Amino acid sequence: MGNNRNIVILTGAGVSAESGIDTFRDGGGLWEQHRVEDVATPEAFQRDPDLVLRFYDMRREAVQTKEPNAAHHALARLEREPDGDVLIVTQNVDDLHERAGAKNVLYMHGELLNAWCTACDARSRWTGTLIDRPTCPACGAPALRPDIVWFGEMPYRMEEIYGALRRADLFVSIGTSGAVYPAAGFVRDAREMGVETLELNLERSEGSSWFHETRLGPATEIVPAWVDELVDAG
Ligand SMILES: [Zn+2]
Repeated sequence: MGNNRNIVILTGAGVSAESGIDTFRDGGGLWEQHRVEDVATPEAFQRDPDLVLRFYDMRREAVQTKEPNAAHHALARLEREPDGDVLIVTQNVDDLHERAGAKNVLYMHGELLNAWCTACDARSRWTGTLIDRPTCPACGAPALRPDIVWFGEMPYRMEEIYGALRRADLFVSIGTSGAVYPAAGFVRDAREMGVETLELNLERSEGSSWFHETRLGPATEIVPAWVDELVDAG
């Protein structure tokens, strides 16, 4: 993989879009007629837990009918290259990177296929519904919520992400809007640490000017092409 042995890859909605995964439109818009503040905040969950649980039950059911695309497969292939260290940091809550075979995936915004117990803090793999208030497998309390980082909550494992950026030779941002912090700031952090930066995106993002290089196009085309280039160069 050339001189770039340590690669941190940030992925966002644009990677899963071609698999048919919906998301909130950029800039805090609508998702299936729901506003962000009605279904994706701790306040919304307090105000109307049924609405929020049903919303995520539908998302959880939908994601299990989707398949990883060529971009997910290409990144999993890059991860399997012997002479490199690849960490995929994803803003996506689907499991498509893993289903494509990626092992080193950090879910900074949580996982749709996890339930989080607000009584004992345990996380459990969850493929069914939460609207019926099932009990926590660890403690038995009917206190499960989606293991999703809502707007206004702290993303997971930030120290680990910054640690990986410090060790990286290359930071690649794929399919993110560049609008949601702290992920939108990774490119600036990476540059301050002297890391090479590359953006792969459908269109220029708000943060495009911060990258050393930007390549535009559908993720299923430009991600496999970039991985081929990198692997051939190695
Ligand atoms: Zn519990």
